Amino acid sequence: MKLHIQNKFTKELPADATIENYPRQVENAAFSYVEPIKPLKPVLIHASIEVANSIGISQEDINAIEFLNVFSGNTIYPETKPFALCYAGHQFGNWAGQLGDGRAINLTEVVHENKTYTLQLKGAGPTPYSRTADGFAVLRSSIREYLCAEAMYYLGVPTTRSLSLMLSGDQVVRDVLYNGNPAYERGAIVCRIAPSFIRFGSFEMFASRTDIVNLRLLADFTIKEHFPLIKQEGVNKYLAFFKEVTQSTLEMIVDWQRVGFVHGVMNTDNMSIHGITIDYGPYGWLEDYDSGWTPNTTDSQNKRYRFGNQPEIALWNLYQLANALYPLIEDAKALEAILDEYSVMYEKQYLLMMQNKLGLQEKRDNDLSLVEQLTQLLEKAETDMTIFFRNLGAIKKEESTITAFEKIKIAFYNENGLEDILLSEWHNWLEKYCVRIQKELITDDERKVKMNLVNPKYVLRNYISQLSIDAAEKEDYSLLIELVEMLKNPYDEQPKYEKWFAKRPDWARNKVGCSMLSCSS
Ligand code: AMP
Ligand code: MG
Repeated sequence: MKLHIQNKFTKELPADATIENYPRQVENAAFSYVEPIKPLKPVLIHASIEVANSIGISQEDINAIEFLNVFSGNTIYPETKPFALCYAGHQFGNWAGQLGDGRAINLTEVVHENKTYTLQLKGAGPTPYSRTADGFAVLRSSIREYLCAEAMYYLGVPTTRSLSLMLSGDQVVRDVLYNGNPAYERGAIVCRIAPSFIRFGSFEMFASRTDIVNLRLLADFTIKEHFPLIKQEGVNKYLAFFKEVTQSTLEMIVDWQRVGFVHGVMNTDNMSIHGITIDYGPYGWLEDYDSGWTPNTTDSQNKRYRFGNQPEIALWNLYQLANALYPLIEDAKALEAILDEYSVMYEKQYLLMMQNKLGLQEKRDNDLSLVEQLTQLLEKAETDMTIFFRNLGAIKKEESTITAFEKIKIAFYNENGLEDILLSEWHNWLEKYCVRIQKELITDDERKVKMNLVNPKYVLRNYISQLSIDAAEKEDYSLLIELVEMLKNPYDEQPKYEKWFAKRPDWARNKVGCSMLSCSS
């Protein structure tokens, strides 16, 4: 395995002066050098050949013992020096101080075809940022991270990617529901990649300590390395950077809302400055369309990170980033203008995204009301989001509302028991929808093709990933492999996977891992 190594982050930013690995406050530093713990008996469960190729690793490399050793943390690749990032953050709306990579260890940066990637192990042991936790990860949460990042990538949602999933061979103790029932679980390690793992919280860390020298160093480094199109100087450079982060974050959120993804822990330390989805913890996918839903049991009281609140929370997080960058900019009005623009742009881009989901190419003034009526209706009875939008594409311009309803009916959990009032509301909406699509210049078939590009047929349904976890716990990885393959073409019909185009079964309704997850991972 020949990797084109680059160690710019560690070369250009200040390192923690302390070498020993114990939990502590780390000041005047962007990172700490730390080595992974050698796993007892690493076993490769899965590697993504596409991700491997993208950083210059071949199938032959994957098959070699060096791959297993390097990406389980057993050996350190030549001329690299692993490190953990120091960052802070707001958790659930409250300032949490220093957090940092508590169980993530960056191996190195790799350059391939003029692109830079940071390779990071998750679950390879403690760091100075582990606080009271152990730095390890269990198989179930590692599968969830591994699968979801790849699912998001193929859905076209900006995300980190997964290179490899391994068992460490070690046992890890977890109390899944935090209810006094700790148990041993199998430890696992994911190697994930991203341009960098710099977060909003990386800037908050220095700003909170009024360490302006390092704040500027980090901002300058980030812009030079990752935002090469920013050519402005001085204050305008930082403003341009903030604007870019705002826009890419907005685009990511619109995509989340399009596919029904709920992140679950949108703390500022889990927000990438690249506008990519990172840190797949207690996330979930909307099965029945419910803007109030969050999978995260830790957030079940306030539901701060519920589906419908994600756009607002992203903005709240951007305010925190603006505050952190303020010492470099000292122009509140200019920052506010960018933040105000977010809300305006979000409305616009959300509408555009929903118009696309509805197959409306010819934009009309009344489309917003059609969309709003629809989302209200979707909330009134349990309705599967993915099936609904996918099947909506089959409706034809000249069809009766009765035929149209037959096509979407399967999306309702209580298909044959909808109340009369609701039924008539649906017929009203479908009538308006049919009238509306008659104004479209393209044919029914053309519209369906376009809709199928934005309304996925296959997403990582909560119960499906749980089934793959249950099997993997018994050392049966066949479903996991099947899901990886299925999720590579989420917009294609793929008849052989038709059984996964199905509503959540009843057994999964209130099952841990399906409809609810804790942060324990
Ligand atoms: P999260 O919200 O899951 O991204 O984690 C919040 C903070 O807790 C981050 O600083 C993590 O690195 C840290 N953390 C989470 N789980 C562990 C663990 N098992 N060991 C050490 N640190 C952890
Ligand atoms: Mg995190």
